[in-house]
Amino acid sequence: MNEEISRIKVLSDAFGPSGMEDDVIRKAMQSVPEQYDTKLDTMHNLYIVPKEKKDGCAILLDAHCDEVGFIVQAVLANGTVRFLPLGGWNPVNVAGSAVKIKTENGFVSGIVAAKPVHFMSEAEKKAPISFESLVIDAGTSSKEETMALGIVPGCFIVPDVTCEYIEKQRIFKGKAFDCRIGCAALLQTLHSLPETSNTVTGVLTVQEEVGERGSSLAVQNIKADVAICFEGCPADDSFESPDMVQTAMKKGVMLRAFDCSMITHPAFQKFALDCAEKADIPYQVAVRKGGGTNGGIYHLHDIPTIVIGIPTRFAHSTAGFCSYDDYLGAVRLAREIIKNINQNVIDSFRHVVM
Ligand SMILES: [Zn+2]
Repeated sequence: MNEEISRIKVLSDAFGPSGMEDDVIRKAMQSVPEQYDTKLDTMHNLYIVPKEKKDGCAILLDAHCDEVGFIVQAVLANGTVRFLPLGGWNPVNVAGSAVKIKTENGFVSGIVAAKPVHFMSEAEKKAPISFESLVIDAGTSSKEETMALGIVPGCFIVPDVTCEYIEKQRIFKGKAFDCRIGCAALLQTLHSLPETSNTVTGVLTVQEEVGERGSSLAVQNIKADVAICFEGCPADDSFESPDMVQTAMKKGVMLRAFDCSMITHPAFQKFALDCAEKADIPYQVAVRKGGGTNGGIYHLHDIPTIVIGIPTRFAHSTAGFCSYDDYLGAVRLAREIIKNINQNVIDSFRHVVM
């Protein structure tokens, strides 16, 4: 199996809900090219800094390394566990799934239990599922038994899913492609930098899913002229009518023009689209009525930012799909931008055009 495919699998499998990303960071550090130093801040954002600075512009590559997950709130008398979501979840996608709980003594397996149909009243069958109606069962029968496994309030939880590459369809099935597929694209871009006089720095940011908290700290420690945020962005092609699809899997990289956190700088967006056109990289432009990215933080700190998304089916669910070719396109586009951008282009972002 090639190195990139194994890296994607390792990163997808890594344990990294918002606030407990260390396993992802450790695995990413093993994949940092030799020409880079790494450092961490107190939140554990990982800065990947080139040993050698060049004279061109400073380009920041960002991807968030956290995934949506859960946190233990309380252990109940019957041994089941009440929990809260970390990041945005639809509770319907959580009920019935297998999870992994990280304790001081290692991982414990659990199942998110909703009341089985046999025990539901007619009214309960019609009621919407909420987190209040879900518990995690670790196969125990008392609070003491559960706590003896190391499960206590504050333990972090993620879906128990193992990533696989389905070669025939050139897709991955697994968890956390939002944004581990972006982390993989960032690392691969650093491994395959084009000839350039620009200085390229990477940052794997924590806690994006709970409100861009990692990038809010990272931006204070970084000096950059422009930023590229890689995202494992939600694909809508299996839900939307064909006319309205903004982000389809296997249709190329997504360049986000608009979401709730940022209106992408039109000149930077155009520059990126031109790069994609010239290099024959398939792309799609997305205007999203929801969502947000770390771009929302960087652009408010005078760092023009574009978002390169790798469409991910069922983001913020226990498992999803993403396409290897969309990933390869994201790396190629980032390389084209790094190769072609210069101070004149960046200066033009300050000009009025009408
Ligand atoms: Zn994301």
